[in-house]
Amino acid sequence: MKKLIFSLALLATAFSQAQNNTSYWQQHVDYDMDVDMNVENYQYTGTQELVYTNNSPDTLTKVYYHMFFNAFQPGSEMDSRLQDIQDPDGRMVNNKGDRQNPDYESRIAKLNEDEIGYLRATSLTQDGKKVEMEDEETILIVHLAEPILPGKSTTFKMEFEGQVPVQIRRSGRNNADGVALSMTQWYPKLAEYDFEGWHADPYIAREFHGVWGDFDVTINIDKDYIIGGTGVLQNPEEIGYGYEEEGTKVKRKGKKLAWNFKAEKVHDFAWAADPEYIHDKLETESGVTLHFLYKDDPKVTDAWQKIQPETAKLLAFFNEHIGPYPWPQYSVIQGGDGGMEYAMCTLITGGESYNGLLGTTAHEFAHSWFQQLLGTNESEHPWMDEGFTTYISGLAQKTIKGTSGNPTAGSYRGYNYIATSGMEQPQTTHGDRYDINTAYSIAAYSKGAVFLSQLGYIIGQDNLAETLNRYYDEWKFKHPTPNDFIRIAEKVSGAELHWYLTDWTETTNQIDYAINSVEAAENGTKITLERKALMPMPVEVTVTLNDGSKKLYYMPLRMMRWEKPAEGDVERILKEDWPWALPTYELEIDAAKADIKSIEIDESQLMADVNRNNNTYGQVDSE
Ligand SMILES: [Zn+2]
Repeated sequence: MKKLIFSLALLATAFSQAQNNTSYWQQHVDYDMDVDMNVENYQYTGTQELVYTNNSPDTLTKVYYHMFFNAFQPGSEMDSRLQDIQDPDGRMVNNKGDRQNPDYESRIAKLNEDEIGYLRATSLTQDGKKVEMEDEETILIVHLAEPILPGKSTTFKMEFEGQVPVQIRRSGRNNADGVALSMTQWYPKLAEYDFEGWHADPYIAREFHGVWGDFDVTINIDKDYIIGGTGVLQNPEEIGYGYEEEGTKVKRKGKKLAWNFKAEKVHDFAWAADPEYIHDKLETESGVTLHFLYKDDPKVTDAWQKIQPETAKLLAFFNEHIGPYPWPQYSVIQGGDGGMEYAMCTLITGGESYNGLLGTTAHEFAHSWFQQLLGTNESEHPWMDEGFTTYISGLAQKTIKGTSGNPTAGSYRGYNYIATSGMEQPQTTHGDRYDINTAYSIAAYSKGAVFLSQLGYIIGQDNLAETLNRYYDEWKFKHPTPNDFIRIAEKVSGAELHWYLTDWTETTNQIDYAINSVEAAENGTKITLERKALMPMPVEVTVTLNDGSKKLYYMPLRMMRWEKPAEGDVERILKEDWPWALPTYELEIDAAKADIKSIEIDESQLMADVNRNNNTYGQVDSE
């Protein structure tokens, strides 16, 4: 009996652990791939050995692979959505009308057999046994020969063949800058299984979520092609092209070269190749090697050379303000169709404008932290990578260039536009499910950047800075969620912040605080403030007197159970909490009404108040 009670107790413990959604685990992959590229017809074949470790508490009977290139075929989900959406991505359509009266035609719908993309598994085994495969366009469903038990590993061996599509979006052949091969989302990629289950999202538009692991990739390609990509080249002395140690004699053998790259603790692998790449290397103080690969084209070479020392400065900034870049190298590669982040590299187009190229490099490089290292699910929470990246790259550029003003001001304007347009959808919307692309972009980039900037208003700049460092420390090489982030901000500051996460990211509730009236009172002045919209906020009111002196009145939000430490030079007066449900607040100050020059709610302009017209009284100096 005693024995039975003991084992029941053990069972109960195991059960409660399995049910505990705060106990973190993540799956693991080890990819070993060998691919052979035909640069004449853009077709390739490959073998993939994938060791998959199931660290979940669940037994798996199926796995899923992303076969992204199948999206670039007439009639695909990506093609359908493109034809359906009101404001399609300009890169993916031809406009047969004009600017005023556009008539869009999907470029995918027009692809011929030899221009489409495809990716097919020609054979697949699990620990030597054949498995049943089912194709669903960009997802391959695999019915396992043997279930994978919790804590166990299994080995998949696959042979695959692919065709690189004409460049439509992110990947492809012969992009607008004439780069031959932009090889992103190019290999059979195992879908992620995490605490929310499988994430076998079809490739419709955006974006990505992957399994952490190690990659060993060999690319066999015509010897004239130069490759940049994820990982560290293992055989530079056989390859050359600037990868070799200075002074090394390179012996290239045969018609094709076998480029072997290794990357550890990443969740994707990308590369690009072109016979006309210039390859520059820059060793940085932190020990990270920066590589730059760009076309030998006089229109772009100046900018691609000028950004190199600036990229080193960006690295130093992000190392300090987020946390140290953990991989040995990072490559900025000309390719793709704009800018897109990958593990240890980015593909960027252009270079005719130096500022444009630097801005894009700053943004994509910042993604090495907010996506490649802090691996949020981009489809579910695009604001966590795009918004955080927009915020930190704006701050980095401001610091490096020494400019003044709020680098996130444009994001506030974007948010205000969508919030007041009637087209806004909450940030919890899946990246593919926004009604229009504009609503996606603003929710992800602008409202996401404002989320962080405004958090600085709520908890103070020092707490925000410390939150970013601790977020890095606790969640690097993992898949953090919005709750994980806000819990860090709570622990750093001591404030209750869940209300901020829910109202800002899960609803379209707005912020609108107003000055209703200013009246002379017995011992000074009575200012009546009103909350006119649903979203709560702590409120700061700056009163400027005719003699130029200033005081800041701070009304904490009661549900935060906390007061922000005073910051800045202006004297701050702490007032009573403002409980959210009360629509008005009477702020009593000791200055006489006649002495007041101006009153302003949130002089910092860091609170995303949708209507600032009712925030002021008197003569406010605008800067
Ligand atoms: Zn981005």
